[in-house]
Amino acid sequence: MRQMNLLAAVVFLGLVASCAEDHPDPTKAETASLILTNARVYTLNWDEPALDGTVMPNAPHDEGGWHPDAEAVATQGREILFVGSNDDAMKFKGESTRVIDLAGATVIPGLVDSHTHIFGLGALLDQVNLVDVATEEAAVALIVERAKSVPPGEWIVGRGWDEGAWANRYPDKAMLTLAVPNHPVFMDSLHGFAGWGNQMALDAAGISAKTEVPVGGEMRLGSDGQPSGLFLNQGVEMLRAAIPAPSRETLTNQFLLGIRQMAADGYTAIHDAGLDTQQMSILEELEAADKLPVRVYAMLSLRDEELIRKWIEKGPDTDTDSMLVTRTVKAYYDGALGSRGARLLYDYADQPGHRGISGDGYGFNQELNAEAMKAGFQIAVHAIGDAGNREAIDILEHVIKENPSTARNRHRIEHAQVISPDDIPRLGQLGIIASMEPPHAMEDKTWAEERLGPERILGAYAWRSLRESGARLTFNSDNPGSDHTIFYGLHSAITRQDKNQQPEGGWYADQRMTADEAVRAYSTWSAYASFREDETGIIAADRWADLTVMDVDPFVLADDNPGAFLGGRIIMTIVDGKIVYER
Ligand SMILES: [Zn+2]
Repeated sequence: MRQMNLLAAVVFLGLVASCAEDHPDPTKAETASLILTNARVYTLNWDEPALDGTVMPNAPHDEGGWHPDAEAVATQGREILFVGSNDDAMKFKGESTRVIDLAGATVIPGLVDSHTHIFGLGALLDQVNLVDVATEEAAVALIVERAKSVPPGEWIVGRGWDEGAWANRYPDKAMLTLAVPNHPVFMDSLHGFAGWGNQMALDAAGISAKTEVPVGGEMRLGSDGQPSGLFLNQGVEMLRAAIPAPSRETLTNQFLLGIRQMAADGYTAIHDAGLDTQQMSILEELEAADKLPVRVYAMLSLRDEELIRKWIEKGPDTDTDSMLVTRTVKAYYDGALGSRGARLLYDYADQPGHRGISGDGYGFNQELNAEAMKAGFQIAVHAIGDAGNREAIDILEHVIKENPSTARNRHRIEHAQVISPDDIPRLGQLGIIASMEPPHAMEDKTWAEERLGPERILGAYAWRSLRESGARLTFNSDNPGSDHTIFYGLHSAITRQDKNQQPEGGWYADQRMTADEAVRAYSTWSAYASFREDETGIIAADRWADLTVMDVDPFVLADDNPGAFLGGRIIMTIVDGKIVYER
């Protein structure tokens, strides 16, 4: 239950309703715990833009462009108490109120990344980062430093040295073995096509000169005829496969590492797309210990049948108030476009005779999926290709027709990447949310058209077409495969340009979103996608005190200088009334 004095809330609501929000009566009002002043506040508490992006008349937008619609926010406990002018907000100041002068920073409703993999992000952060490290000496020095805090015998993994740049002087085990004798060490490269290890890693992997090397791989030998420690291409697997699965403690620490990073990057909630039994149990433990700094909206992996059956029995968790909410099943319907696994209606343009894989062939359990739907779960189904999307929509539609109540569960298609024009209107008709990653469009644009050809590309990453057809959207990063920085996300969504601001004018620029739409897709619309539109998504009295503060104004920059988004920084993240990150 919410820790809110209901009577006080009713009195205060009455107060707001009876007198203008600009003139609170401090004699009746409550005391704020936190007041943010001198801010550029965009409440998003105005009508949604039209489907073509046209700004609504009650939005804070005029001939001069966008301007903030408030300058201060006061919170009390877990909720927003007041939003309006500096002077009026200060009327809620009491003895214990913390007042923060934001000096012109921008405040928007708490950001949501509605498709993430936080255990994966944490694992990545937990490895020693070797990106941009110039020499073997420097890389080994970083491992020596890490070894000081890792119990002897435990693996240390470094990742990110550039196998292209280092190709003329590949390292071997010698220096690493000498410097780090008591830990098995694996040094993975930036793209995973090369790796080296120390002697302890070779021993742990049971590798000798006689070990068979996988097809397409290479194991280098030293002048003594023994493995040098360096492996190439498929050979890297020989070392990689020897790393034991992380312990529960390690996984817990990695999740915390990842979720704290999300807090530092301005997110007040994340949706985790596909959790198994052990991961769910770790999340439940973290929630019980009150250790989650950011709200977690969990999606159960349909691949974990035992876990799904357990949840079908107990039913979805509709207590949207807790820090961990579980009411979604993540299904996997087809592969990815880059590796030509996405299922297409017709042949790949760059591989005649090939259409990818989907459904049963991809391990999708249709029966279990239908059972979860009937038990009241939201389904979030990964679908990339136009056939993958059509079949996924067909499957959802079939269950909805047989059980009309399942239509209420706001099913989602994750990625919704390539959709036939015939299917685009079906999402809106069936109430299916398109859950998409603007950065993917920017990262895939160099080869996506080769895979799809000039016609199908028009239905790819088609945010505007989907919105105009009546589909609801939510935007996200799908990290750690993609950079989750909100500034990159907003930049991609608003400009359809990559980090180098290419191509000029934007890639298929008619699919761009406006600033109003893009910010909503990472906040207001994500709140809808998780059934929280009454509690969060806008800044208004009585809503959750979930706020993101940044040093750039996305509304003004979208018109004036969208490239400047990429240099934006998060100043503060407030979740449930608590400051979970402060720069
Ligand atoms: Zn994903």
